[in-house]
Amino acid sequence: MSKTHERIRDSQMRYKKGLGQNFLYDENLLRVLVEAAGITEEDDVLEIGPGAGSLTGPLCEKAHRVLALELDERLIPLLTAFTEKYDNLDIRQGDVMSVNLPELTSGLRRPFSVVANIPYYITTPLITLLLSGDLPIRRLALMVQKEVADKVLSAPGEEGWGPLAVRCRYLCEPRLAMEVPASCFTPPPKVDSAFLLLPVREKPAVDVRSEEDFFRVVGAAFALRRKTLVNSLAASLRLERGEASALVENAGLDPMIRGERLSLDDFARLSDAWTRAKEAAR
Ligand code: SAM
Repeated sequence: MSKTHERIRDSQMRYKKGLGQNFLYDENLLRVLVEAAGITEEDDVLEIGPGAGSLTGPLCEKAHRVLALELDERLIPLLTAFTEKYDNLDIRQGDVMSVNLPELTSGLRRPFSVVANIPYYITTPLITLLLSGDLPIRRLALMVQKEVADKVLSAPGEEGWGPLAVRCRYLCEPRLAMEVPASCFTPPPKVDSAFLLLPVREKPAVDVRSEEDFFRVVGAAFALRRKTLVNSLAASLRLERGEASALVENAGLDPMIRGERLSLDDFARLSDAWTRAKEAAR
């Protein structure tokens, strides 16, 4: 049993399942994850959910500076004790979904990296929040459910292709670093996991006239699965059916196509058609 494992066990902590508390304890695996995340002494890192600090230590050893944000107050003393030897660590208590992240991270070198074994109950909203464009992020390196990694890595027309995959591909170049079996965590989660790398592109994968319209069109296209794109757009963007058909036609798409078959280029043409139609109507 590793020191990290003993420490988590000896803390007699009662895991809060509701907070996605599945801790990593294999010291070799933790070092491999930090290596795979590509963290160097140039990097400042935001760690979300440091828990008892298993990943925090190896991060502090590699990074220039680490800012660790943990929701569970009970874990803060344990985390503080375990990481007291690191003078490049700043521990904060708070909820990543409601803190002011731009303000919290304003002291970090920019762009900074986000590395985390994230609580799975907030996976999609958290990735969406981090990739909302408000934060100067160089890359995300995240432990997620394997199913989520499969989604993010899926291609147009595949089952997982949806708003999350489109956002990740539009802004990042997603890669799988490794799969991690449930047995590597304590307590083991019900699902296998994967360490997903999302290096942020210098500029998005496709040019669009309005990013806001792009993401609204993407959401609308996937809103009614197994319906045609025209029907989905009409219902979700509150358009007349004729207006939705005209957009699809102006984007050079088959009127019978379904939203889940669209590529990034297709979405860009469709959202530009919508932006132009709104501009013309003003
Ligand atoms: N990093 C540790 C590790 O790898 O062993 C713990 C990872 S555990 C999967 C997720 C951590 O996120 C827990 O410590 C949990 O308390 C924390 N957490 C859950 N919800 C959070 C939130 N909304 N904001 C910040 N931390 C949160």
